[in-house]
Amino acid sequence: MIYADAAATTRLSQTALEKALPFLRDSFGNPSSRHSLGVVAKRALEEARASIAGSIGAEPDEIVFTSGASEGNAWVIGNLGVGRKNDANLANTDVGAKRWDGGRVAASAIEHPSARKMCEALKRRGVGVEYLPVDRDGIVVVDALKTMLATSRKGSVSLATIMFANNEIGAIQPIAEIGETLRAFDVPFHTDATQAVGHIPLDVRKSRVDFLTASAHKFNGPKGIGFLFCRRGATISPTIEGGGQERGLRAGTENVAGAVAMACALSENVATLADTTVKTRRITTEIVERLRTALPRGAFVVVGDERRRLPGTINLVFKGVRGEALAQILNLKGVCASTGSACSGEAEPSPTLLALGFSPEDATSSVRLSFDRDNSPTDAAVVAETLAFAYRKVVEARREQR
Ligand code: PMP
Repeated sequence: MIYADAAATTRLSQTALEKALPFLRDSFGNPSSRHSLGVVAKRALEEARASIAGSIGAEPDEIVFTSGASEGNAWVIGNLGVGRKNDANLANTDVGAKRWDGGRVAASAIEHPSARKMCEALKRRGVGVEYLPVDRDGIVVVDALKTMLATSRKGSVSLATIMFANNEIGAIQPIAEIGETLRAFDVPFHTDATQAVGHIPLDVRKSRVDFLTASAHKFNGPKGIGFLFCRRGATISPTIEGGGQERGLRAGTENVAGAVAMACALSENVATLADTTVKTRRITTEIVERLRTALPRGAFVVVGDERRRLPGTINLVFKGVRGEALAQILNLKGVCASTGSACSGEAEPSPTLLALGFSPEDATSSVRLSFDRDNSPTDAAVVAETLAFAYRKVVEARREQR
């Protein structure tokens, strides 16, 4: 089997698993307990927090553990307007306090459903949501954001949520430029960095983001844990009230083993980023080259611009052929890949591809291939050959039906 679906999830790092196991066995203490077992667990949790912070250029007290990116996105987008002032850790915010009344939100047109659906929920609560257009490569038109900000009443834009890298096509947004723009207008900036963290160099200070969400299972950590970066000075209201964990922002006994594994996986990925990038970029490039040789001219288009794409993620639109049919044949032949996003409705045209200007038909004709550190360079030849086989099969079957 070849796994070509790293954007959906990744294999848990063996080292991360081994680091986490003691906290599922003997070191089972509750980090809130004052006795020795609790202290051990607390120490591990805080070491994990510091390590994660270090991996993204943040401070430990800017990291809040969550259950993953869906939670992080829902939390930041859904908690608009509820600033938390006078908090010792999240002191005297300039961000967040003024949100909500008559508020507007800017979002890219290609957000993951976990962000987009929260924006839709805000709309139902009377918040104006402006979806910023993207160009043919899936890059947000920053001028559209500038125009929106310049023509909005001062203080009325309560949040901008623009993903770091897209899950379907891998497009990497000009986050630093967007961050600068938003800062000039004093607008809080949230980025869903689920596909970026552990896959491309990322520094929250350089990116000028206020909130950033991530999910461990996208970077070889376990499922069901993630983190929210919340810049010092930015405020957010608690998502769960209770025992006061996570500085009162998210109550509930912490997932110590998950946090330990997540921190380990992230630091491993960051340490090997350069090598992984070279390898995965080679794999995606080779697949395109091989398909160009194997298939008729114009049989497929590569979505986006290689220079502004995640190295390991590639989306191919096969003209007149349903992506689902191709993915099924790939699966039968032992290649795990997906059509668009694993989270979006299977048969529906991909909203992301529609936003890029693809027709509804083309937007159901894509296959996403995504690779990570676990893939072998030899996967490229097998995936390309299998995909070419699948394409020919579908085209042949269609001919016979006519
Ligand atoms: N955002 C993006 C960009 C994603 O790719 C995903 C996972 N498909 C999520 C958010 C949600 O992550 P999780 O399922 O771990 O909550």
